[in-house]
Amino acid sequence: MPEQSNAELPPLPYDYDALEPHISDQVLTWHHDTHHQGYVNGLNKAEETLAENRENGEFGSSGSAIRNVTHNGCGHYLHTLFWENMDPNGGGEPEGELADRIEEDFGSYEGWKGEFEAAAKNASGWALLVYDPVAKQLRNLVVDKHDQGALWGSHPILALDVWEHSYYYDYGPDRGDFIDNFFEVVDWDEVADQFENVSSRVE
Ligand code: MN
Repeated sequence: MPEQSNAELPPLPYDYDALEPHISDQVLTWHHDTHHQGYVNGLNKAEETLAENRENGEFGSSGSAIRNVTHNGCGHYLHTLFWENMDPNGGGEPEGELADRIEEDFGSYEGWKGEFEAAAKNASGWALLVYDPVAKQLRNLVVDKHDQGALWGSHPILALDVWEHSYYYDYGPDRGDFIDNFFEVVDWDEVADQFENVSSRVE
């Protein structure tokens, strides 16, 4: 038997209407249940194709399947982080070691935030705050689709989805308004936990 892939859609960590008025019940429902589920399904399907091809010793469709693993896998991982790094009681600014590191690496919180917002306005996919374990520093990344613009080895600790399915129903073409509202629900405690988890491996 080929090994079975079993990525699963994680439940939202809050109710579908919990982030209103910043993100509507309708958008969260579509975004989680349809879009995120689609990436989970696409990842599993691509993994199945790879396993079948290995079993049959025929690799003609394996190249495109590997590409689909990357696209759908990155979609799955980033959406999971996106849900986790929001919370109905979020907002405010980071504290503690994360706040210190943002100040060290970006000069100030405002310097980081201005740069992250610019990333979010420029991206055709995601704005990410990542920890780079080579340089041992935080960076902002502009990501197109789910995987174009990755910096190898870096680990995302805060993700903002700026695909149109993420905001268009609520905000129309005003992506800046959506970005402002995202900051009202950022769960900085969760982002700090992610930072502690990834930075402690290398520092
Ligand atoms: Mn999305």
